[in-house]
Amino acid sequence: MDFEPTEEQRAFADTARNFAQQALAPHAAQWDEEAHFPRDAIARAGELGFCGLYAPESIGGLALPRLDATFVFEELAAIDPSTTAFITIHNMATWMLGTWGSEAVRAEWGAALTSGAQLASYCLTEPGAGSDAASLKTRAERHGDDYVINGSKAFISGAGSTDVLVLMARSGGAGAGGISAFAIPADTHGISYGKKERKMGWNSQPTRTISFDNVRIPARCRLGEEGEGFKIAMKGLDGGRINIATCSVGAAQGALAQTQTYVQERHQFGKPIASFQALQFKLADMATELIAARQMVRLAASKLDRQDPDVSTYCAMAKRFATDAGFQVCNEALQLHGGYGYIREYPLERLLRDTRVHQILEGTNEIMRVIIARRLLAGAADALPR
Ligand SMILES: Cc1cc2nc3c(=O)[nH]c(=O)nc-3n(C[C@H](O)[C@H](O)[C@H](O)COP(=O)(O)OP(=O)(O)OC[C@H]3O[C@@H](n4cnc5c(N)ncnc54)[C@H](O)[C@@H]3O)c2cc1C
Repeated sequence: MDFEPTEEQRAFADTARNFAQQALAPHAAQWDEEAHFPRDAIARAGELGFCGLYAPESIGGLALPRLDATFVFEELAAIDPSTTAFITIHNMATWMLGTWGSEAVRAEWGAALTSGAQLASYCLTEPGAGSDAASLKTRAERHGDDYVINGSKAFISGAGSTDVLVLMARSGGAGAGGISAFAIPADTHGISYGKKERKMGWNSQPTRTISFDNVRIPARCRLGEEGEGFKIAMKGLDGGRINIATCSVGAAQGALAQTQTYVQERHQFGKPIASFQALQFKLADMATELIAARQMVRLAASKLDRQDPDVSTYCAMAKRFATDAGFQVCNEALQLHGGYGYIREYPLERLLRDTRVHQILEGTNEIMRVIIARRLLAGAADALPR
């Protein structure tokens, strides 16, 4: 067991930190303010391989271990969690396409997606199917060599600005086994997009509903076999949850670093506020929570890399713990900045707004507890062995 990052992981982190300082830091506040989706910056991230970090090499990805990918996402998220979170969703959808796509699908989109020239959305949630995603109703009816898709999706990140939709739809009967996954050109006839949702955070990426009205796609667009879609969606989300957890860790790291400096510069009662032990203890707790969250995320990522049978449980634990801890650290950081934390001149309130949704999406933190408890109560006394 070695907790030290490898030289390669440090190099990825350095590259990501430099990129974040140059390409994200000068603009993140403005993108948030103006709800601007920075396609150009994402394409530049793609030039560094960040749009296909763990996608297979056969489609131009770097095929990195998930653990290594966390080093990149954490550095980006320390500056701009919203844009980074979209990049992680794109990575997840691209990995799904690269892993289960037909040769034709991989040839058509693989290189464009891993390079960041084109972008992908992950479309699972529906207006009536959120936490209970397996109850989704969007239909994919087989018609000869095609499928015809009807239904709607809700809360889709990137929707309206992405090129490929990785879509879960019902091609068979009720339940998870009736769901198939597809990769669909986002501008196919019959697809329409709702208004850009106005949100508390994640403003640098659009969120929209999508409607499918007799959308005809060739059967080769299916990912995997018929009925495998839910399994594929959940495999995507194991990694997705690590990614979102990493974005929270990154944001917390960014907030903590700002706070370490601020409390030493800010004077009240004739001395730096860092001299008050009550605030020192807060800083100590923030750092402790942050390190615990980071280690939890890295543990889950290495479980995924080793295909541990309990990987979904560890990913759920990491997502639950790190997104709660990340939000809490950002909140404490804002508090230690006093009134300045609350105004937009400082990034604290943006980091707080951006991390709040991490407790909700890619499975709410209540659903993470459902997953963990289910494993603990599955009858195996040796659940989650030491
Ligand atoms: C900004 C944003 C971006 C998103 N991006 C995407 C995307 O790109 N692709 C996508 O597919 N989806 C996306 N989502 C959707 C997101 O994954 C869902 O919002 C989430 O899964 C919760 O579903 P819901 O909103 O329908 O809440 P509901 O399922 O209605 O839950 C409401 C509340 O009930 C709780 N609850 C539900 N069931 C249980 C239970 N069994 N036990 C205990 N508590 C329970 C929930 O935890 C929650 O607190 C996004 C959402 C947001 C806000």
